[in-house]
Amino acid sequence: MSAKKERPISKTAGWRELPSGGMIPAGGTAEAFKTGDWRTIRPVHHREHCIDCMQCWAYCPDMAILLEDGVRVIGMDFDHCKGCGICANVCPTKPKSIDMVSEIEAQRKDAEGEGEE
Ligand code: SF4
Ligand code: SF4
Repeated sequence: MSAKKERPISKTAGWRELPSGGMIPAGGTAEAFKTGDWRTIRPVHHREHCIDCMQCWAYCPDMAILLEDGVRVIGMDFDHCKGCGICANVCPTKPKSIDMVSEIEAQRKDAEGEGEE
């Protein structure tokens, strides 16, 4: 059986260009789709408690944990984080180094310059 070569979907694709049934025609395309715009809760990283155990990075289904030098957690990629809460759930520190907060409330604080990180 030969693998069918599929055309990648461009970042500016309109609905007419999307594949039927929402099928994903090729691997490695997730970066092109910003899933963060339908998040209802967002993770807030507390650097002061973090021990860089990388559990959040290993479990995040969207590769949305941002690292510095590959070993230090510095925050989240909010273009792709969908607010699933797995990172906060697996974080082992007490208190947790990641809290989940209301997205609307976080955006309001960002707009007012009170946001964390
Ligand atoms: S909330 Fe989910 S998608 Fe967002 S950083 Fe945490 S594990 Fe990743
Ligand atoms: S799971 Fe918690 S302690 Fe571990 S790296 Fe992530 S935020 Fe830091």
